[in-house]
Amino acid sequence: MPQLQFAHFFLGPLATNCYLMHDGKEAVVFDPGGSPEKVLDYLKKNKLGLTAIYNTHLHFDHVTGNHALATASQAPIYANERDAYLMPDNRQASILYGVPPVEDFAFQNLDEGARTVLGTEMRVLATPGHTPGSLSYYLPEYRTVICGDVLFHGDIGRTDFKGGDYPTLEKSIREKLYTLPEDTRVCPGHEEETSIGEEKLYNNYVKA
Ligand SMILES: [Zn+2]
Ligand SMILES: [Zn+2]
Repeated sequence: MPQLQFAHFFLGPLATNCYLMHDGKEAVVFDPGGSPEKVLDYLKKNKLGLTAIYNTHLHFDHVTGNHALATASQAPIYANERDAYLMPDNRQASILYGVPPVEDFAFQNLDEGARTVLGTEMRVLATPGHTPGSLSYYLPEYRTVICGDVLFHGDIGRTDFKGGDYPTLEKSIREKLYTLPEDTRVCPGHEEETSIGEEKLYNNYVKA
């Protein structure tokens, strides 16, 4: 089995972390949260075909590049349908930040469960609280979890947006993320990486 390569891009006005994973031929992207030129350049330079786009949740700063990437590649978009209520608000939010409105896109519903992506296991975890449909993508073979705005280095996701709920978020972190191996690399939606072990000890809001 080929070792997968990972790449990372800051996209959009909130410097959302967009992650890419590829096997030398095919690639999948997580949260293209801004104009995706950097991602398209990377795909071209490395001669990669994009086969799927995964969203951790449907806030505008994680989905802005969905339409352009899906149009360029025919890749399907996956997200959880419990976040569909956010789509109309996203147009307003992007105007507020002075970026072009999020273009409509269709997505396929993804629920908790395991699937194989680029030859590796990917466990989709339901981690609601920041939004009701927040998903985290856990790659056990690579000791990595891509968790969107659920857990950050020293911090946790906001729960004051429409549909957010603090007790639900805390439960998701404790039961779905803090139960992963301590050396799991945490790739959050914003700012720098951390690990499950570090957050269990030092997180300012939810300690294990
Ligand atoms: Zn968010
Ligand atoms: Zn965000």
